[in-house]
Amino acid sequence: MKRKTGQDRAITNGWRPATQAVRGGTARSEWGETSEALFLTSGYTYDKAADAAARFAGEQQGMTYSRLQNPTVEMLEQRIALIEGAEACRAMATGMAAMTAALLCQLSQGDHVVAGRAAFGSCRWLTDTLMPRFGIETTIVDARDNDQWRDAIRPNTKVFFFETPANPTLDIVDLAAVCGLARERGITSIVDNAFATPLLQRPLDYGADIVAYSATKMMDGQGRVLAGAVCGTEEFIEKTLLGFIRNTGPTLSPFNAWVVLKGLETLDLRIRRQSENALKVATFLDKRVPECLYPGLPSHPQHNLAMSQMEAGGTILAMNLDGGRTQAHGLLDALSLVDISNNIGDSRSLMTHPASTTHAGLSAEVREAMGVGEGMLRLNIGLEDPEDVIEDLDRALEAVGL
Ligand SMILES: *Cc1c(COP(=O)(O)O)cnc(C)c1O
Repeated sequence: MKRKTGQDRAITNGWRPATQAVRGGTARSEWGETSEALFLTSGYTYDKAADAAARFAGEQQGMTYSRLQNPTVEMLEQRIALIEGAEACRAMATGMAAMTAALLCQLSQGDHVVAGRAAFGSCRWLTDTLMPRFGIETTIVDARDNDQWRDAIRPNTKVFFFETPANPTLDIVDLAAVCGLARERGITSIVDNAFATPLLQRPLDYGADIVAYSATKMMDGQGRVLAGAVCGTEEFIEKTLLGFIRNTGPTLSPFNAWVVLKGLETLDLRIRRQSENALKVATFLDKRVPECLYPGLPSHPQHNLAMSQMEAGGTILAMNLDGGRTQAHGLLDALSLVDISNNIGDSRSLMTHPASTTHAGLSAEVREAMGVGEGMLRLNIGLEDPEDVIEDLDRALEAVGL
């Protein structure tokens, strides 16, 4: 590896986010390639036996095995850390691997976690099903209500865990208030920032301790690979997270890391354009459906808070129809441009019915309590001309009597 400008934080910290997303973390090999090299290798060789021993002892710099380190994955980790404003980052195989590792690396039997009610279905499975099996207690709160966070704290509370905006209800959490409370009480806050990305919202600036991602979403941004990431202090990553991930193995493949590196190059462009498109579509839907939920719309109950901590409303919106599952499924079936798909962050517009897909694994009561009704639809707005998306929605709404 030569020319390491992209890896020198003294230089890259001074770059603006769009520059960081294109060039951060880049390290060139002796060939001087312009595009990041893809190192498809599971292992590494050593000149001498003593070198292997020194590397295993941590006395010599260098890589030993791709479950632990890989040059392509490391470039991605450095780029994400940079745009997040974090000291360090570790990439993982999926967003759920990142969430699981961020939680379990620091929790033990007898600890207590407070988590936001509206969350990605699998995140709720971690808090509601997996952690209690290992004696980790959880309290679920309405994350919009700062008092509920305060009231839920117990002497053994170790972690606050939430998303903002939340999937799929678009609930907003007051980052400064909730992360500030956690700090004050010696609790670690973990923010799942998948919906906003570091270009629209940087939770660390509001006092969050750890930011975790599904990089599958906006970071790849073109619906190709799964990936995840955890960002935090050097101390947390090195002392708490690394041992857990090195020994349990939720490692990101170098190929997927390379794809996400390419995705990040256009993240700034995509997130801004898709947010603009989403605002146009939300403005149309707001007048047309009983309820449209989009943080960028003045009608969103937490619009002011959202806009105080996010640069734009993001790419995701949700709507509530009065006609339950029949009308929601009817609308999906009447679409011709927008695809029926449960993915988000894609450059294509996609729509799903959370109650029968992403949140189907939760009980009806849990869904109802978190605001995921039978008439809810979630929409990811892509890079198509928003007028084409609006025309498609207009036709589909008419087909179900709206
Ligand atoms: C998709 C998603 C996840 C899970 O990420 P995967 O990459 O699918 O494992 C977690 N949290 C949120 C908010 C998500 O949207």
